[in-house]
Amino acid sequence: MNIREKNYWLGTVAKPATGASGPLPDKVDVAIVGGGFCGLSAARVLAQRGARVALLEAESLGWGASCRNGGMVLTGMKLPVPTLIKRYGREAVQRMYAASLESIDLVERIVKEEGIDCNFSRCGHMEVACKQAHFDDYAAAAARIKSEFNHQLRIVPKNALQTEIGSHIYFGGMVDETSASVNPARYVHGLADAAHRHGACLFDHTRVTSVSSQRNGTGGSFRVETTRGPLTAKEVLLASGAYTTSATPALRKKVIPIGSYIIATEILPDSLAAEVSPRNRMIYDSKHFLYYYRLTPDNRMLFGGRAAFFPESESTVRESAELLRRGMIEVYPQLRDTKVEYVWGGTLDFAMDVMPHSGKIDGMHFAVGFAGHGVGASTWMGAKLAGVICGDPDDNPFSRIAFPGAPIGLRSGNTWALPLAGAYYKVLDWLT
Ligand SMILES: Cc1cc2nc3c(=O)[nH]c(=O)nc-3n(C[C@H](O)[C@H](O)[C@H](O)COP(=O)(O)OP(=O)(O)OC[C@H]3O[C@@H](n4cnc5c(N)ncnc54)[C@H](O)[C@@H]3O)c2cc1C
Repeated sequence: MNIREKNYWLGTVAKPATGASGPLPDKVDVAIVGGGFCGLSAARVLAQRGARVALLEAESLGWGASCRNGGMVLTGMKLPVPTLIKRYGREAVQRMYAASLESIDLVERIVKEEGIDCNFSRCGHMEVACKQAHFDDYAAAAARIKSEFNHQLRIVPKNALQTEIGSHIYFGGMVDETSASVNPARYVHGLADAAHRHGACLFDHTRVTSVSSQRNGTGGSFRVETTRGPLTAKEVLLASGAYTTSATPALRKKVIPIGSYIIATEILPDSLAAEVSPRNRMIYDSKHFLYYYRLTPDNRMLFGGRAAFFPESESTVRESAELLRRGMIEVYPQLRDTKVEYVWGGTLDFAMDVMPHSGKIDGMHFAVGFAGHGVGASTWMGAKLAGVICGDPDDNPFSRIAFPGAPIGLRSGNTWALPLAGAYYKVLDWLT
């Protein structure tokens, strides 16, 4: 397939938010590194609460994962609940799960309060089972989620699956009506507009090249060097996700950057769109090397997956287009003759323990590790960190858990072992 990289979402943004022109302020209360959901959400809250904020984004606002994702605003976390409870205990996991539900409410509230036109919709999500054994586990998983969190999921057996999805390859599904969908690029630009309106200074095309602490005890400040000149900040918030650079080496050592890729087709006729996704759910499958897919608001099939494990490059994007098209046709043979018009890639920020993390590193606040579950979580985490900086008690359950480093070979900037990790998960999918 001969197709060039083009991100569908970016073409839907009527008026992209741009950063301020001119020099940086000499001094601010908070410097934020990174202008995705996390940084922008934090900037919005900090500005609302009267802090002087400079957000510094190396590229355009939302350039990272935030404008590249599937726009699925999902409940829960990546890991299964029993694994989480075994690791962190019931009480902590209850608070984590509650945070995942709150994060969807928060996105909904921001969209409403700030009047952001981004197709936010509580359409629900469905996980589909690729094997009978996966489906057999759904009843116990749903029962555990009901008993631990009082949250209701619905099991859909294979003989009823046609009401949810126009595909015959799955063994059943599990629906969560609470999840939502959004156009991520419109959301990011609406969030940027809102942060700006509340008084945050947003600087795009401003790369942070180093941060040094001039702190002593509780006082002092940070000197932040950027490609637009230096500035001094009382607090620094790192919201640089998978794209974290050597400007903040301690955080970079924690991040495993993993590529994820998406194709989008031409607009489907209404009848075909209704056939492939009758309830317009956000859908993902039960594999480690999973596919995730949905209809766009204008009825294209948007189909994503970890077609290559390496972060995006011209060649991984090109190869992914063909792999994903084949995957899409396995799921939906009826899309065999449908033209693929868009392909793009992005990088997920995994932590070694597959958990989101926040807290302080080298004296700076950070939030990272959202993996493929970050639309709501990064918005929530940004707002939460902003609150802590303004003096709120830190009740964030993700700031209390240990944050393991990434092994050499999987770390950002040094990812030679990623294909091995990819192969491991492919074998795991075959075996389990
Ligand atoms: C292909 C793909 C599909 C996904 N699908 C979903 C989905 O459907 N649902 C879901 O919940 N999540 C999904 N995710 C994950 C979600 O997009 C992310 O978790 C979320 O966007 C993270 O936001 P963020 O603000 O932390 O990071 P980002 O949006 O990545 O922003 C970080 C920013 O920091 C900037 N930066 C880095 N270093 C510097 C520096 N030194 N100076 C200045 N700026 C710097 C980068 O340029 C970047 O713009 C997906 C991700 C990808 C890549």
